[in-house]
Amino acid sequence: MNIINPATESIITSLEEDNKQSIAEKYAQARRSQPAWSQVPLQERIEKISQFHQLLETESEMLAATLTREMGKPLSQSRNELKGARSRIAFFLEHSGQWLREEWVWQEEGLGEKIVYEPLGVIANISAWNYPYLVGVNVFIPALIAGNAVLYKPSEHTTLTGMKIAELLYRAGIPQHTFQVVVGAGAAGQALLEMPIDGYFFTGSYATGKHIYETVAPRMVPCQLELGGKDPLYVPNDNANLRQVAQAAVEGAFYNNGQSCCAVERIYVHEQIYDAFVNHFMEEVQQLKVGSPEAADVFIGPVARKEQLNVLEQQVEDALDKGAKLLTGGRRIAQAGYYFQPTVLVDVNHRMRVMTEESFGPIIGIQKVTDDEEAVALMQDTDYGLTAAVYADTQERAEQVLSKINTGTAYWNCCDRVSARLPWSGRKHSGIGTTLSYLGIRAFVKPKAYHLRKPVS
Ligand code: NAD
Repeated sequence: MNIINPATESIITSLEEDNKQSIAEKYAQARRSQPAWSQVPLQERIEKISQFHQLLETESEMLAATLTREMGKPLSQSRNELKGARSRIAFFLEHSGQWLREEWVWQEEGLGEKIVYEPLGVIANISAWNYPYLVGVNVFIPALIAGNAVLYKPSEHTTLTGMKIAELLYRAGIPQHTFQVVVGAGAAGQALLEMPIDGYFFTGSYATGKHIYETVAPRMVPCQLELGGKDPLYVPNDNANLRQVAQAAVEGAFYNNGQSCCAVERIYVHEQIYDAFVNHFMEEVQQLKVGSPEAADVFIGPVARKEQLNVLEQQVEDALDKGAKLLTGGRRIAQAGYYFQPTVLVDVNHRMRVMTEESFGPIIGIQKVTDDEEAVALMQDTDYGLTAAVYADTQERAEQVLSKINTGTAYWNCCDRVSARLPWSGRKHSGIGTTLSYLGIRAFVKPKAYHLRKPVS
């Protein structure tokens, strides 16, 4: 498997992919190692993860450089991702003990009732490339702390990062058989679906997520899916800070080159402030620096996958055919590397793919609305349900809108934001299950209910 640098299209290195046989062997090793790992006292498991947390800091420059090279994320954003991952791990280190210890829920003369949280066993963590540290630590950190063994399949676009993660976990004291990297693309992921694994934790596209859900359903094991989005941002007419809102919206739409599950993918603006907002928005977009992701001040590097350039071009073409106006961008940049111009479309509507299909790139449509009711109808007109943002002057008005939107996350005056303290979950085609928060700790255990009655003397 060739690992390609999306900024130069050159081959960084070639790796041998796992095959069905090697994956079966890794599974067997994980299965054998898991009972001993689950017997390691919780505090000791937490201490080992704490070592890993420390190593992520010590090695952060090397890790950021590796991520930028194989995935094209600007170096400053790779560093930010590592910082964000460390803060999520800190949350798990602090709170796992509280949510994993046994709970006495009833005690009376001669009768006790308690819940014991047992690890699931061997879990598969099939991951995406856009934030390999963030979406990875949501799963493998609480899974390991809870006493599971993990078969971790990084995306084929961030395999080197996956291998570095394993190296650091081993240095931190996690047994090699307890955390294993499965190297490869779809076929390696498919082979994992065929193993008798105790839980699937997937981050990626709706198409692959649906396939995984259907495939493992007969086995009756937990299957969590963190999938795509088409996340809306709405600016009603009471907002007096349009410059700041435009800044935030540009950041939400273009950070990580728009390749975030919760990126702002479509914008609705009240007609009374529409022109002013679009002007501010364009001023911000013109300042985005595009170039080599290794350069210090670059905000937009290449997209990670070559195929996405076609998707982006097709979305632009489709929108223009149906009457949209292009304010800037619209094309790939003619040079080596998978570069696409930051693109803004107006006069858009929901007959256009750019307003209904996940773009996952540096492209955004801005649509005019007459009132909150129309905004709600349009925000709701989607197969997805990950996040929605409202930039309103009052919390009341924002909540009036947000309470009507079927999403797992709702933002007032912020967007493209994830907190370890809050549950991260999608609705509809954005997935099923929860990571982060105490719910994302409990996702990696199964409760056993003990009814304990003393013998009658
Ligand atoms: P993808 O579905 O192409 O791949 C995801 C993973 O699945 C990869 O590791 C891939 O090798 C593996 N895979 C492919 N075919 C498989 C099969 N048949 N069986 C098992 N595994 C298989 O998605 P991607 O391009 O890596 O990621 C982008 C998508 O992820 C976007 O839709 C994005 O919105 C979504 N995402 C969601 C979240 C979230 O928290 N909801 C976070 C990050 C990314």
